[in-house]
Amino acid sequence: MKKSLELFQKIVHNLLEDEKKNPVAEFVPADALFERMDLALEEHPISEEDLATLLQDLVFKTPRTATNAFFNQLFGGRNDKAILGDLLSVMLNNSMYTYKAAGPMVGVEKAVLGKVCNMIGWDENSGGTFASGGSMTNFMGMLMARDAKQEDARYKGVANNLTVYTSAESHYSTPKNAAFSGIGRDQVRSIAVDDWGRMDVKALESAIVKDLEEGFIPTLVNATAGTTVLGAFDNVDTIADICSKYGIWFHVDGAYCGSVIFSKKYSHLLKGIEKVDSFSLNAHKMMGTPLTCSLLMVKDKKYLYNSFSNDASYLYQTDHDDFNLGKTSLQCGRRNDALKFWTLWKSVGTQGLEQMVNKQFELADFARDYVRNHPDYKDYSIEDSISVCFNYKGIPARDLCTLLYQHSQLLVGYGSFNNDEFVRLVTINVNNDTDVILKFFKTIESFVEENKALLLKNRLSV
Ligand SMILES: *Cc1c(COP(=O)(O)O)cnc(C)c1O
Repeated sequence: MKKSLELFQKIVHNLLEDEKKNPVAEFVPADALFERMDLALEEHPISEEDLATLLQDLVFKTPRTATNAFFNQLFGGRNDKAILGDLLSVMLNNSMYTYKAAGPMVGVEKAVLGKVCNMIGWDENSGGTFASGGSMTNFMGMLMARDAKQEDARYKGVANNLTVYTSAESHYSTPKNAAFSGIGRDQVRSIAVDDWGRMDVKALESAIVKDLEEGFIPTLVNATAGTTVLGAFDNVDTIADICSKYGIWFHVDGAYCGSVIFSKKYSHLLKGIEKVDSFSLNAHKMMGTPLTCSLLMVKDKKYLYNSFSNDASYLYQTDHDDFNLGKTSLQCGRRNDALKFWTLWKSVGTQGLEQMVNKQFELADFARDYVRNHPDYKDYSIEDSISVCFNYKGIPARDLCTLLYQHSQLLVGYGSFNNDEFVRLVTINVNNDTDVILKFFKTIESFVEENKALLLKNRLSV
């Protein structure tokens, strides 16, 4: 063990040093991957030395998500305290299902979830759990909605007329989860959005009324706090009232930006959150913990027991069950994802979490101002979002992003809204400052200037 940990230290040290010089890993085309690297598994072991060399090579060629040139995903950067917590959870290797197996780590998980529920404004009937990602916490929300509406679904199977409502800009996990849950993809109503990417609440109510008239059973409304492309926030407050009027479970998918709950300045974007039935957020996005750290909060924890406890119902729950987290979990064996967030939270306080959220919006404001003040750029962003969307000199976003990637310049992605395709800069890495954002734009500008020929070869006009 000692030797392996020393090797770990050495590789990580080398990586951190190299990242300073080369924030983007060398680009290895997928079709050349197995020629360029020895990944095949053999009958005989390789030497410790060869293994060390191979591991370092593998690490060095892997995309670098923590550097100041990575803007591609809805996560980025490295938080040392969260990493410390996660490394410890790997060493301890507990599974979170029972107090017997996880001991005080159960308390760690409950402390995190309890505090978030408390910040939402919920009482002691509330609860929550962790799952292996935002897609899965959304899935759990959908299962609770299904079981709340059709109580015997768990025993008899699902009726064929349950319906789900989510905006056209929401994450693809909702239709996928509708397939998993037996509700069915065809029963998902894609609700139109307004010009700012938010669910059109009038269209939502009309769709519900129409379904009721046609004999469907509206079961779940899924709203998004931070849509994947634009970073838009659906109007939770108004949608909550519609759900309560028609008796529909209301889940908020805050995987991307639900963490605004930690900021006094930006929690207004979740106005009405105390009225929802369930709410998910990914701490591995805005809070910068290692993947994955996905929280699900439920206003009335009895629904968690109803849907996820295999034996006794909530009624037979003893105090002891409150510490046996397996009764409210999707998984059986479950890694300790709470410790990394708890370690971070303990070390910086709620104040520190708030500063992290605020900084992301400050960086986004800075980037949006840059785009708006430079005539070579076209702006597609909305306000109050950490996704900054633009095009440069009319270059198709996918061409620009692909070339920047292939030339190991920047990792940044593109998205589309209303038939426009654009570059999407995500200012989620709090290790960055405004000078890094400025460098991002300068890199694009000089890359385009130096590679006019290449861009033209791609049949682009610059
Ligand atoms: C990222 C994201 C998800 C999925 O979360 P995973 O942890 O990647 O499964 C769901 N919804 C939204 C809005 C997201 O941004």
